Amino acid sequence: MLDKLGKKIDQLIQQKPIYQEALLVYRELLGFLDEIQPVITYDAGDASVREIKTREGFPLFSRGDLPIDHEGAVLLFQRLLEHLSSTKRKDRDALEQALNRVQGKPTWVRDMIWAFLSGDEGRITTMSLEVALWPMVARFLAHMALQPSMRSLRELTTEVVQGYTWNYGYCPLCGSTPNMAYLSDEGKRFLHCELCGYEWHYPRLKCPFCGEERAKDLGYFTSEEDEGYRIDFCKKCRRYIKTLDMRLIGFPAPLELEDLITLHLDVLAQKQGLKASGDQHASRI
Ligand SMILES: [Zn+2]
Ligand SMILES: [Zn+2]
Repeated sequence: MLDKLGKKIDQLIQQKPIYQEALLVYRELLGFLDEIQPVITYDAGDASVREIKTREGFPLFSRGDLPIDHEGAVLLFQRLLEHLSSTKRKDRDALEQALNRVQGKPTWVRDMIWAFLSGDEGRITTMSLEVALWPMVARFLAHMALQPSMRSLRELTTEVVQGYTWNYGYCPLCGSTPNMAYLSDEGKRFLHCELCGYEWHYPRLKCPFCGEERAKDLGYFTSEEDEGYRIDFCKKCRRYIKTLDMRLIGFPAPLELEDLITLHLDVLAQKQGLKASGDQHASRI
């Protein structure tokens, strides 16, 4: 899996040289993610209770009660921080400061991960700026540190979640907003969760954020240089979501990586006065 992804990243570096640095960082960090074997326990509980909950639109978990491996996530965050501060990045000094802070105050990482999970943007910003770190880097590290847990959780709960009848624009597994979407080979739309990476089917003519269904209020535009990529937007809530058309893109990168290497599409959308899809919008480095 890593080999295949490594080759894809090489190919992307050739195709999108402006994202070379981000792609190289992502590839380096992937190796660390594979070293963590998260310990997660999940009890599926009573199916009838679950059914009532999902019918009323409650996801399996909320971000605050996800059964994640906190120890593993803290350890991984620290490892990523150590690694990045040993590279030649421009923000190396800030990363080192953050590392010093962690050594002086071991709960710092745990607090940061909690701020990220609970969507406390103010706290993320304050904690980051105290060590001169860009909040988006802290957010990215927290997101990466949680990925092994999220992968395990997806595996443990897939069967349960796939049994849901789910027509909502937020994730059935963790309740987060989608950060990307794709159109399958059959033309069906799927949304991709910005936190746990779960993907679920969602109508094409419906805004994931406000539920608007009138065709006159929904639209999309494409960028000439990026065949197979489009930006779907809603005129009512002014939100947008980047969408990959799999009928035109043969072999995409994982969507969290696609999110990272399509930042120019975010710029394009935001220039039109549109707002980013997620309230967390994690993957930024
Ligand atoms: Zn999710
Ligand atoms: Zn909308």
